[in-house]
Amino acid sequence: MSDKVKTIGVLTSGGDAPGMNAAVRAVVRSAIYHGMNVIGIKKGYNGLINGDMEQMSLRSVSEIIHKGGTVLYTARCEEFRYDEGIEKGKQSCLDNGIDGIVVIGGDGSFRGARDLSLKGIPCVGIPGTIDNDISSTEYTVGYDTAMNTAIDMIDKLRDTSQSHDRCSVVEVMGRHAGHIALNAGIACGATAILVEEVPYSMEEVAQRINNTMKTGKHHFIVVVSEGVGHVDEIAKEIEELTGVESRATVLGHVQRGGSPTVRDRVVASEMGCYAVGLLEKGIGNRVVAMQNGRITDFDILEALNMKKEFDHNLYKMAMEISI
Ligand code: ADP
Repeated sequence: MSDKVKTIGVLTSGGDAPGMNAAVRAVVRSAIYHGMNVIGIKKGYNGLINGDMEQMSLRSVSEIIHKGGTVLYTARCEEFRYDEGIEKGKQSCLDNGIDGIVVIGGDGSFRGARDLSLKGIPCVGIPGTIDNDISSTEYTVGYDTAMNTAIDMIDKLRDTSQSHDRCSVVEVMGRHAGHIALNAGIACGATAILVEEVPYSMEEVAQRINNTMKTGKHHFIVVVSEGVGHVDEIAKEIEELTGVESRATVLGHVQRGGSPTVRDRVVASEMGCYAVGLLEKGIGNRVVAMQNGRITDFDILEALNMKKEFDHNLYKMAMEISI
């Protein structure tokens, strides 16, 4: 164990995601395994500022690997966006003997982690969001579960749209990123996938439906990403342009819940252990990431400035086979 880091804190911040518990568990277990002490900080940076924290033990993370949500709770903390809030966070670390923090969350949470690192408290971020919209990593904890939840729901909608010869227009989450929409769209055989990254017109969507109808298909699924939105209007336009009765459904927050998939549990565990490994060496101001399927890490600012490409080839393939 390094002389520098004896006690680490762990917190979850921003939107929750299935698999956050698996990450917390890995952080706690790995840190204890390596002879460190772990403090669980509640409700994101709020708990750090307010001293809302608890001593973690091997058993305090038992029976959580399969649970959605986060046992540490999560929240947004406006105060932490400002220097005064960061100073309070730093002071709280000094008061509570916290030498480093693992922050599980998204880009916003990583900005806080960077600010605190620059004040001398090493912090390491773990990407936790269902949206997979963090540029530095191919994969974010929660993404796989969210897509599988979306698919479960869309399969149910498919049954009813098939019975009624309808078009089901389904909005999936992802904020401004179309990754969930693209993958869920492929996996459910959607006739059209509308994402912010690819320009579309309703005439084209109607054309796809009409062409498919000519080959004998009478029910359709159109997957729409959250950033595109307006599913009611899209359904109405499809109905007007094609004559196919259309219904809009917003899947919403169900996609944030549920028991994490194997992939989310495994990646969360790997990233949790990796983050502890960095802090053990006294290394902070880093985010853990997956690149080419391997776990690695980046400077937080470098990570925040990276660009993530939408998979246009995959989109093109989806359009080729959904005819
Ligand atoms: P996410 O981490 O999922 O992107 P948010 O953007 O809401 O979610 O950020 C979560 C929390 O991270 C915020 O409530 C705040 O406490 C902290 N945070 C966000 N942006 C900054 C920033 N620029 N500087 C410091 N802390 C920030």
